[in-house]
Amino acid sequence: MSRSNREPGDVRWGWDCPRCDRATRVRRDPSTGTYRWECPDETCPAVGFGFISRRRARLALREFRKREENVYR
Ligand SMILES: [Zn+2]
Repeated sequence: MSRSNREPGDVRWGWDCPRCDRATRVRRDPSTGTYRWECPDETCPAVGFGFISRRRARLALREFRKREENVYR
């Protein structure tokens, strides 16, 4: 099992989807020059885009995750 005892700040898997814990892809959109992350599961609605850097995308992803966790509490 790969989901056990994962640290919140784990850098290897820090891009996990906030909804389903799959590893998201982060890439640059050449048409706009911005970065986006998206879930590899086509049935999962989680996505973020329009970030000026990979770091911004990651920060937004973490904020997204915090909000989701609050909902489930
Ligand atoms: Zn997902």
